[in-house]
Amino acid sequence: MPRYRCGGTVQPVIDLADAQRHVMEHCPVLPARGAPLREAVGHVLAAPVTASESVPPFANSAVDGYALVASSVSSASVASPVVLPVVGEVAAGAHTERVLQTGEAIRIMTGAPVPAGVDAIVMVEDTERLDGGNSVAVRTSIDVGAAIRAAGDDVREGELLYEAGTQITGAVAAVLASVNARSVLVTRRPRVAVLSTGDELVDDGGQLAPGQIRESNRTMLLALVADAGCDAVDMGSVRDDEAALERVLRDAASSCDAIVTSGGVSMGDYDVVKAVLSRIADMSWMQIAIRPAKPFAFGLLSAADGREVPVFGLPGNPVSSLVSFELIARPALRQMAGHLEPRRPTVDAVADAPIRRRPDGKIHFVRVTARFGDDGRVHVQPVGAQGSHQLSATSLANGLAAVPDGDGVAVGGTVRTILLSLG
Ligand code: AMP
Ligand code: MG
Repeated sequence: MPRYRCGGTVQPVIDLADAQRHVMEHCPVLPARGAPLREAVGHVLAAPVTASESVPPFANSAVDGYALVASSVSSASVASPVVLPVVGEVAAGAHTERVLQTGEAIRIMTGAPVPAGVDAIVMVEDTERLDGGNSVAVRTSIDVGAAIRAAGDDVREGELLYEAGTQITGAVAAVLASVNARSVLVTRRPRVAVLSTGDELVDDGGQLAPGQIRESNRTMLLALVADAGCDAVDMGSVRDDEAALERVLRDAASSCDAIVTSGGVSMGDYDVVKAVLSRIADMSWMQIAIRPAKPFAFGLLSAADGREVPVFGLPGNPVSSLVSFELIARPALRQMAGHLEPRRPTVDAVADAPIRRRPDGKIHFVRVTARFGDDGRVHVQPVGAQGSHQLSATSLANGLAAVPDGDGVAVGGTVRTILLSLG
């Protein structure tokens, strides 16, 4: 009997939470590396960042206007403006040594340093230029401090700016640039190998012979891996051939930080992924009390350099592949990437249509469209066809409703929902 005829061993059914815990425990955060700031966008900080400079570095004007002493315009109004001599001008990037006296004004632009002696700035809209700019009529009184942005107003030198685990977005990178953090320590972004398996799969655009189907999971999984913030590496579609599969898996382990496979992990006689990984990796073959995506494999494959590379063996049915990626692989990959909160957000959503099911001891992950209602709550509706082979309906879902064992959820009932996107 060939080795892959091991499909008949029956595994005990385990809870999803136990499966998730087991996987998370074996997917530690990857090592850190220094990265130039621009390259670091999309990564996660591996160490806290303390501000080495204040932002703004000096007190400056929030408006284009006139710098003055507030008390010199305390009586000003539209009906009776106060006229002040303009004794200088300062633009952004310039500065003036002139010390302003009460009763004087200095023309100032947004971002220009506040001259000594100034305690407020009146915006140009509340003034009138007189005498070719040699004096100004101020038509309003202003408070001390008006339109002055104090040094360190945004960031104070020495303060903790970001905790380790913070995702470096464009805005975070801009703040880091503002304090002259030219390179930062980031968690290495996981390189994730994606491969599909099955003799029936065609992915070269050719004619389908009897029994063949188009390969589609890999396209989805490469996109999901990239969307999870990892570098997706396409390892192709592999036939149900032990030697070929072993070669590709070993290749993947030596060049990547994790491996995602599709197909070949259930109870069939030709589930070759199961046969090969059982032999070359330290695997757990799981039957999880969920629907879809009951079969799932997870294990560690030793790379030639001694690294233990996590392997996620997803089932081949396209919807099962998607659901098990979302529930188990995605949080693990994001943990490896250093995210403090690797999971998707969940909400208690309102069912706008009945979600029917029968008791079977499993949590059903029903694919739903989720939207915000006028009541401020998230409302969900199942997306039609819910078979594990019917990806077309699921492809338009943006939520996974976790329907507990029982008879389902009535209209208006509440169902915990994982939000896949909020758009
Ligand atoms: P398996 O998990 O290998 O037993 O496959 C379960 C079902 O999913 C079968 O109907 C396969 O033909 C289908 N399937 C497996 N892999 C893929 C794939 N990469 N793309 C589309 N369908 C697949
Ligand atoms: Mg197969």
